[in-house]
Amino acid sequence: MSMDTKRNVEWEEEHYPRPLLKKRTPWMYVTAAWFFLKHLIKREARYYTKRPVDTLFFLTYRCTSRCKTCTLWQRTDKTGEMDLDDWKRAVDQSAALGAKNIELFGGDALLRKDILIPLTKYISGKPGLCSDMVTNCNLMTEKTARELVEAGLHDLWVSIDGIAEAHNAVRGRDKTFSKVEQTIQWFREFRGDSSLPLLHANTTISNLNFDSFEKVLPYAEEMGIDFIHLEYAGEFWDELLDQSVIDGIRPNPYFVRQDDKSILVNEEQARIVKAKIEQMKNDVRFMNISLQCENVDKLTIKQMVEGDCDNRRCYIARTKITIDPRGNVVGCGFYGDWVMGNIGEKPLNEIWNNKSHKRFLNHFAKRHTKLCKHCIVGVQRNPSVAQNVRDYFNRALGRARM
Ligand code: SF4
Repeated sequence: MSMDTKRNVEWEEEHYPRPLLKKRTPWMYVTAAWFFLKHLIKREARYYTKRPVDTLFFLTYRCTSRCKTCTLWQRTDKTGEMDLDDWKRAVDQSAALGAKNIELFGGDALLRKDILIPLTKYISGKPGLCSDMVTNCNLMTEKTARELVEAGLHDLWVSIDGIAEAHNAVRGRDKTFSKVEQTIQWFREFRGDSSLPLLHANTTISNLNFDSFEKVLPYAEEMGIDFIHLEYAGEFWDELLDQSVIDGIRPNPYFVRQDDKSILVNEEQARIVKAKIEQMKNDVRFMNISLQCENVDKLTIKQMVEGDCDNRRCYIARTKITIDPRGNVVGCGFYGDWVMGNIGEKPLNEIWNNKSHKRFLNHFAKRHTKLCKHCIVGVQRNPSVAQNVRDYFNRALGRARM
């Protein structure tokens, strides 16, 4: 299994003294502490300079899933979606600002195969730049899988929330699990002896799968997946969105409670989740797969029950360039209507850090963006220095937050 993870600043696993390994030597602690310190300094520098490190490109908002944990699929309008040349320009201008990683996201990015494959090839042809893609696999074909591997995709992320029917039930589609399985097989076959694309399974934990999510670990190992990431479900609700209107703009996140049914776990379920993860950490020591469970590790039981993500700062809005399908550079993925500018009208370097961007960050600083407290994508990406140090020691000592 490849451990070529250094380029991805969001995976902090290797800044810890490898708590998941069988043996930890004193030297491992020293090097991990050194990496951790360097990482913290670089991260703070980026925070204050607002130098972008990566991007989130919504190639389309349309989606082929009907997830119970996400509402992006309810956006069906494809008017004004950008073409390949527009996206290439976005890549060039993002790279010029410092971005190293281009996340090709949707909706279902496979609905834009016309641009997905040539864009991936374009990115991999740029020194120092790489791409990753998140997919539900519904529209993956053998030909597309081969083309993506040949185009130089660096990371493929697939969602696996359970095995077979358990996954289908969460995703709201009958055959989606078999598509995931087939996709992984194709990518394994086409990458051959190469370590790329790295294969990631992302498992979202909620009250829909709290009692069975652990089955994904042995399954993923058997399938030859390189990494499994456990993430807790994100959830916003209407009243919270009403309280988060800034300058007349209401956030439009895609993790919104559906049919008034919460997917957050209760206290008893949260304890079960924590216990299962501790068991998984033990199990994975003897397995050929890497388990990344930082997201859930950082949350206490109370925070899981309340959906409180304790975001005191937002590094995302300062270091991640988010562009919607029409070329709008937006505050973040959840404030998609906060438009700082459009790359069809102005170059990105005139949009990034402009007045609108600063105003958005100012609203966060003044705690006007109430939903940020519940922003699950910030759990790993937004910890302050103090929170990071706390989590570092917890993990180094193998202590779970409860
Ligand atoms: S913390 Fe707030 S501003 Fe930052 S990404 Fe989340 S919703 Fe957006």
